[in-house]
Amino acid sequence: MIPVTKPFLPPQEEYTRYVNGIWNRNWLTNNGPLVNEIELRLKEYLGLKHLLYVGNGTIALQLAIKALNLVGKEIITTPFSYVATTSSIVWEGYKPVFADIDPLTLTINPLEIENKITSSTAAILATHVYGNACDIHAIDKIAKRHKLKVIYDAAHCFGSKYDGRSVFDFGDISTASFHATKIFHTIEGGSVCSNDPDLIKRVSYMRNFGHSGPEDFAGLGINGKNSEFHAAMGLVNLKYIDEILRKRKELSLYYDQVLSNLEVSKPKINDKCSFNFAYYPIIFKSEMDLAKSFERLNRAEIFPRRYFYPSLSQLPYVERENLPVTDDLSKRVLCLPLYHTLSFEEIDLIARLLMRIQNHGV
Ligand SMILES: *Cc1c(COP(=O)(O)O)cnc(C)c1O
Repeated sequence: MIPVTKPFLPPQEEYTRYVNGIWNRNWLTNNGPLVNEIELRLKEYLGLKHLLYVGNGTIALQLAIKALNLVGKEIITTPFSYVATTSSIVWEGYKPVFADIDPLTLTINPLEIENKITSSTAAILATHVYGNACDIHAIDKIAKRHKLKVIYDAAHCFGSKYDGRSVFDFGDISTASFHATKIFHTIEGGSVCSNDPDLIKRVSYMRNFGHSGPEDFAGLGINGKNSEFHAAMGLVNLKYIDEILRKRKELSLYYDQVLSNLEVSKPKINDKCSFNFAYYPIIFKSEMDLAKSFERLNRAEIFPRRYFYPSLSQLPYVERENLPVTDDLSKRVLCLPLYHTLSFEEIDLIARLLMRIQNHGV
């Protein structure tokens, strides 16, 4: 069986060593030493001033939206992302307004953002899809001109850079996911980054029920904390991240080589982005072509995923919008298996099946 992804697992003894420390200290959660250490190490590794480690990438988004104290009811967002991007907006009581994507990069199209701005617009929430950075400069310019806040859902972006800096370093606030399926993971986990120290302070209270002392509250909060066990997994995995990033690049380039005659295209990587190879998406000429390949691979116990289909504008709790680029592309894009322990032989097999479907239809 070849799934679309498999979580990275470090040598078990290395994790156990951290767990022994947790047993000795009897400190399991609530801003423990390992949570502090992972925050420090991540800031160091990513070159960031501030980073808060939180429960997951979804609570990170919700904290980001809440902490900005937005004025206005609408948040302009991308229809081409994981459902958490849109659900967080709705959960926080705002209305998602979808701006179509760029047909080459598959990230939100800045011109479409500008078309959707009204007097009710409060913010822009854009996803760096597959680890490929949005057109950050253009989005920031639009936001400045219209006095809008920018949140980046950087869930896929660990290791991606823009203009030589971590992608997490952009926007008013940037969120990440460290879920088991992501490139760097802490089993469950996420982060909130911002260069605004006041905003970071607000989020740090918010993630801990709003506590500013044992009997004091700075404001409304929620449980957005993460545990010592999760931080421990992160500390071990961080030792392997350079190797993980190197391996994914190698596997992706191998896919490129063996699929060079396959009649598909790939999303264009933003010129200013140094890409982390988080996913291996291919774009078929038609949904029919995708369906045939998908079915053939499934028969061989190979399970690629349709990231991201359907368009988020089709969710049952949002207002549908006509988004021709997303509606078309989301039907034709497929992410092939990509994970640390995937072998070249497995890629050969996937390539052979895809070529056979294309050339012989079976
Ligand atoms: C994974 C993901 C999330 C949610 O992160 P969790 O840690 O699973 O809550 C949000 N946005 C995008 C784009 C994602 O891929």
